Amino acid sequence: MVKRLLLAGLLFIVGLALRPAGQARAQEGPPLLLQTSSLYRVLEEGSIVRVRIDVRLSNQDPQTRKKKRGTVYFYNEVGLPVAPGVQRVRVVRGDGRELKVTVNREHIGYDLLQIRLGRRLFYGQHMNFTVTYDLVGGLSAPYYIGPNVARFPTYLAGDEGQVEAEIPLSYDVRIDNDRCKLTRETEYWHVQCPSFKQTGTYAFFVDAVRPTARAELLSPPIPLARRELRLRIRYFRGEEEWARQVVEILTRAIPMLEEIMGFPYRGPSLLQVRQSTTTDTLGYEGLFEGENVILVRPGAGPETIIHEAAHLWSRPFAARWLYEGWAEWAARETMRRLDMTAELEKADPPARPPRLALADWVWEGGILSGEQAELEARGYALSAFVVEQLVQRLGLAALQEVNRSFLPDRRGRLHPATSESYRRALAARGYQVDDLWANYVLPRPPRPGGVLPLD
Ligand SMILES: [Zn+2]
Repeated sequence: MVKRLLLAGLLFIVGLALRPAGQARAQEGPPLLLQTSSLYRVLEEGSIVRVRIDVRLSNQDPQTRKKKRGTVYFYNEVGLPVAPGVQRVRVVRGDGRELKVTVNREHIGYDLLQIRLGRRLFYGQHMNFTVTYDLVGGLSAPYYIGPNVARFPTYLAGDEGQVEAEIPLSYDVRIDNDRCKLTRETEYWHVQCPSFKQTGTYAFFVDAVRPTARAELLSPPIPLARRELRLRIRYFRGEEEWARQVVEILTRAIPMLEEIMGFPYRGPSLLQVRQSTTTDTLGYEGLFEGENVILVRPGAGPETIIHEAAHLWSRPFAARWLYEGWAEWAARETMRRLDMTAELEKADPPARPPRLALADWVWEGGILSGEQAELEARGYALSAFVVEQLVQRLGLAALQEVNRSFLPDRRGRLHPATSESYRRALAARGYQVDDLWANYVLPRPPRPGGVLPLD
């Protein structure tokens, strides 16, 4: 919020400007109170969510009392944070006049609408205006809006008010906030929540998918060492280009994964790839289910898709860090060998000593929360880092042989590698990795808290 000076009499400027800022703030509540009512509408034609925010602005700042002499302060601009990437922003005042608005896109995670009020707002005065904007397309987080799928967060705007959503009945709708109600009206689904009195967070997440939205694509067979593998891509109608790209990427990547992992694929002859919403993927970019099902959220890049496909070679591993580390490393190695390095995501090697012992890194299940996400990101990065260290020290061929030793034996018995059995298998071949295990894999024994000086 920007405060401007109006000079009613130059003589008093200095005295007023030096007044302690806190003095006039004794009164409760923000100096500018924004009461809002927000409505998010998914349009029937798809690809657009139209947002309307009715704002009542009240100036409660006693510093901006109107007076005849001296320096007079007033407000003539207000800032409103909204979802990142908003389009077609308009602000119309209660009297029908359109207001000037600037979209400040420099912030991380939100855009800031800087709205010029077109008049001076003094203490005790109010003003009503309506903000409208569109959320469109965009594969960028944190929302996805396609022709048949809309998944997006709704925000609590201003200091207090309400948030509602309307979604056409042609969609299946889920929301993630138990305090809000989803009801079926005659023409649309309606989401309503109790009014709020805090700001800076989202109200609820809308996950809307049209059941007729699914389409399918079957790939030509991909020849592998022992069998052929076909891909069945299920995607949201309108995402044909994405489906075509997945086929192209996996047709190149899967034979390379087989070569890198060093043993032939023996699983089902069909690999199913389903474009899914974040609710299906539990908040992750992708998920590998059962023996041959991959779920990926719209917008997931090649690295995620290849990583999930690499899980077709996860059979030798029981420890999570081993199967994730190898999937992560093999996906990146595949992309390096296939000249796809431009599309590699940034990998953060663990710079500081890890708080996470990989042997303790397990999947808790359930939808990914913000806190978990950080630990998960660290788990993936650290697992891939340790596998990279192993490859650099021992060479890929030696590790492939170790991995093969954990495949089912002649009687079909499977003893997949744990952190400990993997270390023993390496040691049996003369490879010393105790330092890596001590630094990254094994939990640290608790240390004494300190030593008391005795005198
Ligand atoms: Zn994985």
